[in-house]
Amino acid sequence: MSSSHRDWRSLSSSLHTHSEFCDGHGRIEEYARAAAQAGLGAFGASGHAPLPFACDYAMPLAVLDTYRAEIARVRDELEGTIPVYAGLELDYLPGLADFYAREFLTRRFDYFVASVHYLGEPGTDPWAYDESEERFVHEITVRHGGDARPAVEDYYRRVQRMVQDVAPWDVPTFVGHLDRIALWNRDDRYFPTDSQWYRQIVDDTLDAIRRAGLAVELNTSGWWKPIGRPNPSAAILERCALLRIPSILSADAHRPEHVARGFDRGFRLLLDVGIREMIVPSNGGWQRVPLATKETSGPLAPRPSPAEESQWNP
Ligand SMILES: [Zn+2]
Ligand SMILES: [Zn+2]
Repeated sequence: MSSSHRDWRSLSSSLHTHSEFCDGHGRIEEYARAAAQAGLGAFGASGHAPLPFACDYAMPLAVLDTYRAEIARVRDELEGTIPVYAGLELDYLPGLADFYAREFLTRRFDYFVASVHYLGEPGTDPWAYDESEERFVHEITVRHGGDARPAVEDYYRRVQRMVQDVAPWDVPTFVGHLDRIALWNRDDRYFPTDSQWYRQIVDDTLDAIRRAGLAVELNTSGWWKPIGRPNPSAAILERCALLRIPSILSADAHRPEHVARGFDRGFRLLLDVGIREMIVPSNGGWQRVPLATKETSGPLAPRPSPAEESQWNP
């Protein structure tokens, strides 16, 4: 393994992870140890935050203090090995900001991943657009006569409201899988991502993120999902680079062995689209670290062989 690889890995962290506390497999300590083993500079647990309605993948509110205590225990246990941070992935729904503030801000989390998984008009049952392709098609058929555009616009407007709601909390936050609404949209089968309206609503959303001072993750898990590419797309990341929106690599890991899956490719993609800074957590905030170190400012390191990649991403 070359020293330049070591270097960028130590600048990276894995802060979007789901353990057995929500819908992941494995203990928080196993994830943290796997992150240290992979040479990462920091680890964070970001279980699906409790919701005030029945939901099979989120943590129940009753375990939130146990979750918090377990992260503190792992942090002490691994002191000197890898820094361990306490986070949550928020499932943003309009009207829940007070619930989030009451339950999560009072418990002192180090950071949040702010994500939109639900759509639907306020006052009606929320529906999860990422549950299955069949559900997605069914809902856009029933609600919008088969036109995906209103659902896509609803999604991005919701992201815009989310960043406005979380910004005043002053907790380091990055936006989770920014264009996840495109999960089923391979080959643009449901909506055209090169259309004027799509570009416009993405640009409006990026503008809201920039003004709110939030960061955007490059979520590598999309490489193993139907869309077959990370979230957001390279085109959107390129816009982030132009707007100097800070970025961070994340795996959205649901197993300890996936804690840095796709990070090699992800890091190259960040550099390819022109991103030159990554954020790392430090003392209650983010620190921006330049990616163009001695090792990375020249031509990109050669692609690792498939064997190296698979060793890095078991
Ligand atoms: Zn998510
Ligand atoms: Zn997640």
